[in-house]
Amino acid sequence: MPEKRKYKDRAEYLKKAVSKRRKALRRKALDYLGNKCKICGYAKYEGALDFHHLDKNHKGFGLSEKGMTRSWTRIKEELDKCILVCANCHREIHGDKLQLSKRKLRLKNKVNCREA
Ligand SMILES: [Zn+2]
Ligand SMILES: [Zn+2]
Repeated sequence: MPEKRKYKDRAEYLKKAVSKRRKALRRKALDYLGNKCKICGYAKYEGALDFHHLDKNHKGFGLSEKGMTRSWTRIKEELDKCILVCANCHREIHGDKLQLSKRKLRLKNKVNCREA
């Protein structure tokens, strides 16, 4: 059935569009936080960079694939509470191997928090 086929193509297209948008937003988020690990400076592969929430109640809150469907303003609000770290440092943070100094990690762009 040609119609069915069309529908499938459309669904496929939408899926791709969403994934593209997510990628673009992740890209933007990485740019926003400086594109490298805040702790060791790692910047070789963006896929190995994580968003670490500075809030103690860090729940993984969703700057993952799924979270990237939110609006940029909303994402930015979350990013202002995050630092960018590489997977290695991230593990160390959560394994209590790394002591994060609050002052050292003071967030930049704080002032722009509410900007649209
Ligand atoms: Zn690192
Ligand atoms: Zn974390």
